[in-house]
Amino acid sequence: MAKLPNVSELTKCPYCGCETFYYKSKVSGIVATHVNFDGSEADNSGTHDGLSYKSLKFAYCSQCQRKIARNDKV
Ligand SMILES: [Zn+2]
Repeated sequence: MAKLPNVSELTKCPYCGCETFYYKSKVSGIVATHVNFDGSEADNSGTHDGLSYKSLKFAYCSQCQRKIARNDKV
């Protein structure tokens, strides 16, 4: 298999031309969800503060899902 380029070298998917890619993150941690006593959702804007995200190293095309590059953006 040919070596993958870095994602910063690409402007679109080399297979289908899609201009969006995604990368996966491993997420770990505990979150607290705030709820009002009437059952409605309260302000949860800080919900994800307790999570740690570890970015994984490959970038995938959003459209054709192929592994297209190494993730050097983040
Ligand atoms: Zn594609």
